[in-house]
Amino acid sequence: MASANEQLNNFMEGLEKRNPGEPEFHQAVMEVAATIIPFLDNNPKYREMQILERMAEPDRVVSFRVCWQDDEGNIRVNRGHRVQMNNAIGPYKGGLRFHPSVNTSVLKFLAFEQTFKNSLTGLPMGAGKGGANFNPKGKSTNEIMRFCQSFMTELYRHIGADIDVPAGDIGVGGREIGYMFGQYKRITNSFEGVLTGKGLEFGGSLVRTEATGYGAVYFLQNMLKAAGKDVEGMSAAVSGSGNVATHAAEKLLQLGAKPMTMSDSGGFIHDPEGFTQEKIDWIKDLKNNRRGRISEYADHFTGATFHEGKRPWSVDCDIAMPCATQNEITEEDAKMLISNGVKAVSEGANMPTVNEGVEAFQDAKVIFGPAKAANAGGVAVSGLEMSQNSARISWGVDQLQEQLRQIMEDIHGRCEKYGKDYGRDDQIDYVAGANIAGFAKVADGMMAFGVV
Ligand code: NDP
Repeated sequence: MASANEQLNNFMEGLEKRNPGEPEFHQAVMEVAATIIPFLDNNPKYREMQILERMAEPDRVVSFRVCWQDDEGNIRVNRGHRVQMNNAIGPYKGGLRFHPSVNTSVLKFLAFEQTFKNSLTGLPMGAGKGGANFNPKGKSTNEIMRFCQSFMTELYRHIGADIDVPAGDIGVGGREIGYMFGQYKRITNSFEGVLTGKGLEFGGSLVRTEATGYGAVYFLQNMLKAAGKDVEGMSAAVSGSGNVATHAAEKLLQLGAKPMTMSDSGGFIHDPEGFTQEKIDWIKDLKNNRRGRISEYADHFTGATFHEGKRPWSVDCDIAMPCATQNEITEEDAKMLISNGVKAVSEGANMPTVNEGVEAFQDAKVIFGPAKAANAGGVAVSGLEMSQNSARISWGVDQLQEQLRQIMEDIHGRCEKYGKDYGRDDQIDYVAGANIAGFAKVADGMMAFGVV
């Protein structure tokens, strides 16, 4: 049999040929395939059925025109997409992203990652992702509403509570979900759990907003515990200042850690004193209501500094939590964090660390929690929102918090199981663990269906 490296090269050569010009998708598949191929050597039944090849081919990709009118009366044209990746274990499920960088490559990488993440939660959810190359920055509320309505006027025919259930992602929060849910309801005359992240008044779930950031810190806590360490007293660099970043910082603070940085596409702020709850609330208000820039923090709070055009990875810290976007920790950033003594990394964003950076962390024995495990709390509570919608009930905050905490502990356990067998030396390899545990459940579902 060819060596693992030869198999990987052959597999990637075919994938790149079939999917030209899609670097983010290649990167995401490469990271998974590198850990799955050795697993296939021990489980040849999956190889015979070409499961990995089938998982790397979306069930379908839909692209469509989104026309809308801006406040000056100009006609604007954007492109919307939905990637329906895999529904072996449940309806397609994954967020919608509105950002100028959205294209097929980015959405295919996100939908591919989602396959493993959703499987890891233990809930019955397949994988999808969608969005548009629409830039919400600087748009009025009415423009956002018109765009969301136009986007849903096409998307509605591809989704449904038992077909495909989108949620939010970058640029899509509660406001946008509300506009899209309203339009879906209007077109179909059906009130169903077709989107998650909804407002509490119309079928949303408590704890959904906090779930991704809180979950990423719970996962960190579990990894540290397995290594005989505790998050209390540790200093943390967090990037981003959106939904995931603000809630990650909040949970770090609640557990006695010291979050010191946040960022946006303009640069990062460093508060050496650490954030208090009041400061985090100020940032949430800045981003959610006043829609301002993170640099304003340094004008408002004495002792804090703003670093234009930079990411926070040069700051001395025990913990790094990238919570903004893909490829925001380069190999050089990883090496800088290592030389500054970072002990653990928990990825709140999707694929925020380049593959060479992940290797650098693992070589240096830095505890590393990959996104598909660490940030699965958001989609897990989305899954709980779907259950509540189907049963037409609403659970209380304590019950949901406890379920989230338990789900993150269970995900850690699943990663640990395979991460010990396939890791190097005495290290738990959470990358291999998450990929293999996520793969095995979906693969068994696909095997049961035969060749479809
Ligand atoms: P938000 O839109 O709430 O916030 C995104 C943050 O990241 C903003 O601070 C934004 O700054 C910054 N950012 C976005 N793109 C870039 C870029 N290219 N360069 C620098 N900064 C950037 O998004 P979320 O917090 O929801 O999502 C953040 C990450 O977490 C994404 O990778 C997403 O896929 C992932 N994720 C989110 C989940 C959720 O439940 N929301 C679930 C699982 C993963 P600016 O405002 O200047 O653009």
